[in-house]
Amino acid sequence: MTLLPDDLSILDRLAHRVWVFDIDRGRVHWSNAAALELWRATSLEELTSRDMASDMSFSVANRLRQYQADFERHGTRFSETWTLYPNGEATTVRVLFSGYRLPDGRMAMLCEALSEHAGEPDTLRSAEALLHTSVMITLYEREGAALYRNPAARETVADPTETCFSHLVSADERQRLFSELERDGHARQVVSVNTSRGEAWHEISARGCRDAVSGKEAWLFSEIDLSDLKRTEARAHYLAHHDALTGLPNRSFVSRRFQERLDAVRAAGEEAALLFIDLDHFKHINDSLGHGVGDELLVHTARAIGGLLRDDDLFARLGGDEFLVLAAAPNIRSYVEKLARGVLDIVAEPVVFRGSRVNVTPSLGVCLFPEDGEDVETLLRHADLAMSRAKERGRNRFAFFSTELNDAAQLRRALESELRLALERREFVVYYQPRVRVSDGQVVGAEALVRWQHPQRGLVPPYVFIPVCEETRLIGAVGNFVLEEAAKQQRAWAEAGLDLRISVNLSPRQFEDAELAEHLLSIVRGAGGNPQQLEFEITESLLLGNVAQTLATLQTLRAAGFAIAIDDFGTGYSSLAYLHRYPITCLKIDRSFMSQADGSVAITELILTMTKMLKLDVVAEGVETEAQLSWLKERQCMDYQGFLYSPPLPVSEFEARIGWDPTRPKGDSTSS
Ligand code: C2E
Ligand code: MG
Ligand code: MG
Repeated sequence: MTLLPDDLSILDRLAHRVWVFDIDRGRVHWSNAAALELWRATSLEELTSRDMASDMSFSVANRLRQYQADFERHGTRFSETWTLYPNGEATTVRVLFSGYRLPDGRMAMLCEALSEHAGEPDTLRSAEALLHTSVMITLYEREGAALYRNPAARETVADPTETCFSHLVSADERQRLFSELERDGHARQVVSVNTSRGEAWHEISARGCRDAVSGKEAWLFSEIDLSDLKRTEARAHYLAHHDALTGLPNRSFVSRRFQERLDAVRAAGEEAALLFIDLDHFKHINDSLGHGVGDELLVHTARAIGGLLRDDDLFARLGGDEFLVLAAAPNIRSYVEKLARGVLDIVAEPVVFRGSRVNVTPSLGVCLFPEDGEDVETLLRHADLAMSRAKERGRNRFAFFSTELNDAAQLRRALESELRLALERREFVVYYQPRVRVSDGQVVGAEALVRWQHPQRGLVPPYVFIPVCEETRLIGAVGNFVLEEAAKQQRAWAEAGLDLRISVNLSPRQFEDAELAEHLLSIVRGAGGNPQQLEFEITESLLLGNVAQTLATLQTLRAAGFAIAIDDFGTGYSSLAYLHRYPITCLKIDRSFMSQADGSVAITELILTMTKMLKLDVVAEGVETEAQLSWLKERQCMDYQGFLYSPPLPVSEFEARIGWDPTRPKGDSTSS
């Protein structure tokens, strides 16, 4: 489409309004006499001297560039309704335009105004909006060819001849979109599409309509680009489930995906093995050669072990120098033995990092599914036990979860029936540990902690029996007992004038009950307790599991007035995301941060700052020394628990410790 200057002089004599616009310079290059009138110009010189680029909007300038590229690429001809502003006066015309090569070789635009547009203002505005919007709008024939694309769609289309079918990358998504469209007459889906910049994620809203020109049935697509959002989402998901150093899946991935794999293995009637790998004396390497070398060693080890695995083996880094492999195979015991030997050999090969020769060996623990455990948590504990066994036997070796450990499992079964009896005989007792305000030493609450008053063995601490209760689901009954006791105690103290908030621990296992919130609430009501003065302590691991159900349970509890604390905070997954997603009111900093005065100080400070910002309550656990207490005071920590003030005590001793006299009249306050 190249016109010679001579041809232009013929155009000058036409009544049609024709002009050439120089896109690069933002000026009219030439105009016939009729168009001079349209532009309200006194002469051609006057018109060509107007600088139209200076007050052109960004989107118009962009569109012009797009047209220029389209003219070059496809020699396309367009017809659009434009509003021009000759000397600031709005004039709407229908313009037919195409490429025009200037004598100096640059691509300009030959425009012909068809008629003064006399449409409704809204029609004009909607036509303008269509031109300017970043939403990509395309009208397709039902057969697939495009009838119209707005500038945004034109800018992104990979190939102007593509159909509404070839626009979608995946056959499955195409099938899904068009069957919904055929069925309902409209559809809205996020799909992968071809664009001039490669594949992208678009949200397509499509609907059936008629082409206003031919009256034939057509599809109207509007699309927005969600690629950035998709990328962020994918990245966030990746980060939440992967370890930044080695790129391997992390602990949260293990809880979820390993269990899914075990379920699949069970459904298929197959067997699997869990391999727990720990590097020997890794701390020593870190300390002597530096963390940089330590990190490189971990990355190297992850690659080396990864190289031994089959595609469908699951491989994760639990944290530190601990790795996990879950493998399923027909003859699992011999398969996993071979794999364990392979790991021992490959990890033991010396490597040189930054000029230092590093020798490291691993210790491995293996347990089998389903014989050594039915779920990830149990298998993990058993594989870990087996790994400790390998270390005890001299490291650089592997050990199966052994018969002795199976003996322990038998012991556990005995314990289980004892525990059932204990429940019937009401051998459990609740102790209370005071929760103290850091600023003034006032006792503000108490944590209910269960003990087993065994007829022969004496007082059994919870770490002995709580895990067994959890494995055997006795935890529900034990938990209910503790809550009932705590709620009654809360009420009794409140009636006597002692206002304490009592905290009760909940096991993640209890949350498997979809009606947990209702059950807990009815226990509290039955006992006459006040939800406002009761708090539930949950674990971080709970928040990784069944998100929807956990969230619903916690929201119901919160709405009923209970406070919700995350127990042992900082030891697990410590993600800020929970604090937003779940109705958490309090963090209890794990006691390990109190006992180590070194590197964990930074973490404790971070948690304290965070709780202040998020306006959460915070309790430091395990405070044993005055030094720790004054450290907390300096940092304005809210509350603490710990042996410094008092260990957990039975009710009467608790009252004595906090100086409370139940016979004293109401209203008398306590102090420490
Ligand atoms: P937890 O909820 O983190 O409870 C705090 C534990 O730290 C208690 O151990 C307490 O005695 C101990 N502790 C408190 N102050 C100090 C201190 O200054 N230094 C040290 N070294 N330890 C301190 P306990 O009573 O043996 O309970 C252990 C765990 O058993 C609890 O940890 C909790 O997870 C679980 N547990 C206890 N009672 C229940 C219950 O009723 N239900 C459930 N699901 N779990 C319970
Ligand atoms: Mg607790
Ligand atoms: Mg705790």
